[in-house]
Amino acid sequence: MADGSIMNYLWISLALGVVAGLANVFGGAIVSARAWSRAFLAVFIALGSGFMLATVLTEMVPESLRLAPVSAPVFILLGYFIVHYFEHAWPAHFHFGEETHPEEFLNPAVAYAALGGLLIHTFFDGVAIASGFLVSNWLGSVIFGATILHNMPEGFTMSSIMVTAGKSRRAALAAAGALGVSRLLGILVMALAHRWVNYGLALSAGVTLYVAASDLIPEVNKRRGVRVALTVAAGVAMVLLLRFLFFGDMVH
Ligand SMILES: [Zn+2]
Ligand SMILES: [Zn+2]
Repeated sequence: MADGSIMNYLWISLALGVVAGLANVFGGAIVSARAWSRAFLAVFIALGSGFMLATVLTEMVPESLRLAPVSAPVFILLGYFIVHYFEHAWPAHFHFGEETHPEEFLNPAVAYAALGGLLIHTFFDGVAIASGFLVSNWLGSVIFGATILHNMPEGFTMSSIMVTAGKSRRAALAAAGALGVSRLLGILVMALAHRWVNYGLALSAGVTLYVAASDLIPEVNKRRGVRVALTVAAGVAMVLLLRFLFFGDMVH
């Protein structure tokens, strides 16, 4: 790819990264508006999990295997376990959604560890968006769709952790904003390392798989009923339908 067009993709990715960061901050800001925001975010978590899972399995993984048939599987696994380690093993307490376990946050370091874990995750959101646009406009757009659907719950989760840990609302909003900054950093790093887009895409496919199947689906499963399952299915259907509208087929 010529350097001129890489600059174009960088600007598109950065602009979308700013939108994603604003969604993080909005999610952080509605922490105090709990009654309606709970129902609102539950829809985004369910829709986002289906959309994200379909994006990984039908777009990111096949494209990663096409670009790097030998090494992609290892990089996908690596991405999965990087985010598993930093979101779950190391912070000791993290899950999507509203934080309701104040006893876990008597030591505020637990909240900062959770922030660190989410910063690693949003960094790879940025790598995913930028590597998507380096491959094609379609891949970049669908990955951005998968990102934006979970950015509000992401910001809400982070702010809710800070508030539970006894931090000010200002600190809670700053933490949500930091997620947006880390994503922009991921976009810049991937733009600089564009020669390694095949590894970046595979690595971020593993991260996205973790966020979809191991962060969001467990939150979805806390709610019972057919409606929530249908919302997940609607997320999956959106990706297949978008693909059909773009290419006239549903699979690669
Ligand atoms: Zn908790
Ligand atoms: Zn994310």
